[in-house]
Amino acid sequence: MKVAVLTLFPEMLQALTGHGITRRAVEAGLLSVTAVNPRDYTTDRHRTVDDRPFGGGPGMLMKVEPLLVALKAAREQLPGPAKVIYLTPQGRRLDQQAVERLASEPAMILIAGRYEGIDERVVETEVDEQWSIGDYVLSGGELPAMVLIDAMARRLPGVLGHQDSAEQDSFSGELTNLLDCPHYTRPEEIAGQRVPDVLLSGHHEAIRRWRLKQALGRTWQRRPDLLEARQLSPGLSSEEQD
Ligand code: SAM
Repeated sequence: MKVAVLTLFPEMLQALTGHGITRRAVEAGLLSVTAVNPRDYTTDRHRTVDDRPFGGGPGMLMKVEPLLVALKAAREQLPGPAKVIYLTPQGRRLDQQAVERLASEPAMILIAGRYEGIDERVVETEVDEQWSIGDYVLSGGELPAMVLIDAMARRLPGVLGHQDSAEQDSFSGELTNLLDCPHYTRPEEIAGQRVPDVLLSGHHEAIRRWRLKQALGRTWQRRPDLLEARQLSPGLSSEEQD
């Protein structure tokens, strides 16, 4: 997957490309993330990318022209047509289902806004989808863009090894509309807190059932809204209810 991010702060993307699983994905050629800076496409002496909003009000807006030229440059870098996504608190709230759909796109352009956002005419003519990472306002779209890229990278074939398979994450695979169960590692006991016996039993089917029950219980306690969207089977067998 090839992603171009329109940003006034290209160096921020190094937090993604320089560390962990996303860095591995880039090094393996499974993901490419390039920054296109609208400031590099300005023509005036001051390299102006922002201006005051018509009608008055606080703050500045990102101007149309540098964004359009930067978009053209981004399109030229990418193979074939690319979806254009604007990260904005006014977009639909991002969830795992949207991430999985977007992860199947071969190429994508993400617009990271700054100031009070971007001129609405860019949204109207150039943007295919608008996504928010939650109901709060950040200073810029770089962190939301990185959140989206990181979440998509986990879904790209070959990025995660078997050990950290995305299918076992909350919201994914068997855990669609469920939160993950609790996990433990060594030591078996610390300060009087023991790992649940079932996890030490070696009994794979009992462990699977325990994990599913924990996931269901956790989801019911913390995010009952998710359970409404999940198709529950008619009932657990008496054995599973134990
Ligand atoms: N005036 C805008 C509004 O109220 O909708 C907020 C602008 S915000 C200060 C600047 C930029 O940060 C936005 O253009 C957007 O790209 C990004 N941003 C802020 N919060 C976001 C969120 N929750 N999700 C996605 N992007 C966000």
